[in-house]
Amino acid sequence: MNNRNKKIIRTSIVGISVNVVLVIFKMIVGLLANSISIVLDAVNNLSDVLSSVITIVGTKLSSKAPDKKHPYGHGRIEYLTAVAISLIALLAGAVSLKESVIKIFYPEETSYSTAALIVVAAAVAAKLFIGKYVKGVGIKLNSQSLIASGTDAFSDAILSFGTFVTALVGMIWSVNLEGIMGAIISVFIIKAGIEILTDTLNSIIGVRFDSEITENLKSKINSFDEVKGTYDLTLHSYGPENIIGTAHIEVDDNTTAREIHKLSRKISAEVFFEFGIILTVGIYASNDSAEFKELKSTVENVVSKYPGILQMHGFYTEDNIKYAMFDLVVDFDSDSEEIRQAVMKDLNEVCPDYIFDIIIDSDYSD
Ligand SMILES: [Zn+2]
Repeated sequence: MNNRNKKIIRTSIVGISVNVVLVIFKMIVGLLANSISIVLDAVNNLSDVLSSVITIVGTKLSSKAPDKKHPYGHGRIEYLTAVAISLIALLAGAVSLKESVIKIFYPEETSYSTAALIVVAAAVAAKLFIGKYVKGVGIKLNSQSLIASGTDAFSDAILSFGTFVTALVGMIWSVNLEGIMGAIISVFIIKAGIEILTDTLNSIIGVRFDSEITENLKSKINSFDEVKGTYDLTLHSYGPENIIGTAHIEVDDNTTAREIHKLSRKISAEVFFEFGIILTVGIYASNDSAEFKELKSTVENVVSKYPGILQMHGFYTEDNIKYAMFDLVVDFDSDSEEIRQAVMKDLNEVCPDYIFDIIIDSDYSD
């Protein structure tokens, strides 16, 4: 396991230890005071403990080396552990909400003590402190899970503060806000669960990569002198740290296999070094002759009239026969087959003696 993962785990363990202490103290004073808001505040912290433990287990399992049965590694285990975390939060939230609503309609006598107030106030301070620490390490290590758990600690501190106010109001004015405060905490627990679940399910289904990554990657590939354009970039993730992809590059049509061999290896190596992405490169050829350029700009002219067409690339034409082929990237909102036929019809009018081959590409990345 690398150093970064070790640091992430160590920081998580510090967070877990603090939370365990908070859970124990809050549970004791909450039960003694018969306060559902303090007890649920403890339950909220307990679900954080569970999710941190599962995160660590997930990090350990997913860093297992690839094997014959799982040649892409075990990174996607992290998604499964995140689903488990979200289900725990949803369950805890639903049970808490039910109990709290009952308490709104049938409030119970509470008996707060000064000790209970001190414990809850100390918990607020501890949560703020641990949130700042965990988030700080998360930013330094660029770990989304640590940043998320640090941010979560801040919102928990606000909830604990609400619990503190509830107890204070109950103690001084004998006003019972227990059920309402409990319901608010429950809603926060449920909300956190839903957010984790949707994010994770999207990752499992396969999401569009951040344009920041794809645009940087394309401009990196375009920075090679021999590359005249980069297209059809696809990326597949097998866990947050294991991404495999393909891209088409356009090179001059008299580039030799020897030169392409060297170029594509150089691109793959530098992309892996800079982005940690395993990239396979495919080739489109292009030509600088006046005849080629003229036909290409005629086609571009036709294509530009269709707003559903995001890009045209891979244009190539044969010298001795009147034949040209190219790719069109079509917007997901448009009917690609309809566009293909319309473009074909237009082209047959503009260049009646040519045969065209149009390939429709998906809009995989920005
Ligand atoms: Zn293409």
